[in-house]
Amino acid sequence: MKNVWQQPLSETYRRLSDDALRSRIRAARAALGSSLVILGHHYQQDDVVEFADFAGDSFELSRRAAAQKNIRYVVFCGVHFMAESADILTPPDVQVILPDLGAGCSMADMANMDQAVECWEQIQQLCPHSTLVPITYINSSAAVKSFVGEHGGAVCTSSNCRQVLQWALAGGAASTTAPCNDSQGNADPPAPPAVNPDIKVLFLPDQHLGRNTAYDMGFPLDSMVVWDPTLDLGGNTAEALARSKFILWKGHCSVHQLFRPEHIEQVRQRYPNMKVIVHPECRWEVVRQADLSGSTSMIVRTIDAAPPGSQWAVGTEVHLVNRLARQHPEQKIIVLSDCQCLCTTMFRIDLPHLCWVLEELVKGNVVNRIQVDDHTRQWATVALERMLSITAGAAR
Ligand code: SF4
Repeated sequence: MKNVWQQPLSETYRRLSDDALRSRIRAARAALGSSLVILGHHYQQDDVVEFADFAGDSFELSRRAAAQKNIRYVVFCGVHFMAESADILTPPDVQVILPDLGAGCSMADMANMDQAVECWEQIQQLCPHSTLVPITYINSSAAVKSFVGEHGGAVCTSSNCRQVLQWALAGGAASTTAPCNDSQGNADPPAPPAVNPDIKVLFLPDQHLGRNTAYDMGFPLDSMVVWDPTLDLGGNTAEALARSKFILWKGHCSVHQLFRPEHIEQVRQRYPNMKVIVHPECRWEVVRQADLSGSTSMIVRTIDAAPPGSQWAVGTEVHLVNRLARQHPEQKIIVLSDCQCLCTTMFRIDLPHLCWVLEELVKGNVVNRIQVDDHTRQWATVALERMLSITAGAAR
């Protein structure tokens, strides 16, 4: 990948009023016509989502980008790893643009390729008779996805993590075993914990999603260790690593980590009829105490389908929660805590940056292109395609 930085935005754009920016964005959008698709992540500010052709979570949006025909440009209003996934999943002649290159993801930045290689080598050396299957959450760099693809593993999302872990525990790419689907396209009921003692899963980069999912599958907490990439053996003893089934990378989402069990207690005292729904990037103690947990899409679907009068305390990014509250005035919807649960990197994408990249495109200049190199693309595609084949037909 090209290592580039965001250049300061011209004062011209900074001085424009929101109304002026909106009108210039509409004009540029019209001039670019069907050559362009604008994608907006659920956690974006409303001003930006207003211009999105599609809104969704990271994986839905990448699939949207891949499904478009005859487009030349994707403007991805999200963060860096999402734009990389869109570049990987779209044809090479489609150019993917991130309006502000400073829009990274703190979780994705917690695991890099060199650290993953070092971890892999240390575990292989310690446990030469184990099969180690690497799985990475889609919230990771293309380089980490590529590492995983090259070493027999797969990508997962928060919607399909369980299915992907079942596949990994059956041996990963070395096995032909994958969950079957019935004639309605429903996945088989969850399998009991795999018993093959020789298989270990290295889960990157979100320890919480890995822990929450493995626990839900019936694995006890003492079958998991945390790998701190700054410490020798990840901060573990050789014995603990040898005993473990899951090696969870020491990464987290700085937004979802802010929710704590006492927030749930406070909500329950104040609103006895309120249900608590949280994202599985929240810590284990929070997910255990919540009424429901699931991906961003699952949270949206659940609230969309809830009857009038329903009450929800939602443990996820504040822009999405506030938007859901506006869309459903017949329900009471609040953020689980009054902490600043804002994805600050996502927040960098704003009207001035969106206006700038679109007007440059109209002039024929592609700025802020996100381009994954061929080797990384090859193996990251393998990891993504394994995920698609594992979950084929199952509801995501
Ligand atoms: S909400 Fe968390 S995981 Fe999602 S982009 Fe922001 S920092 Fe990354």
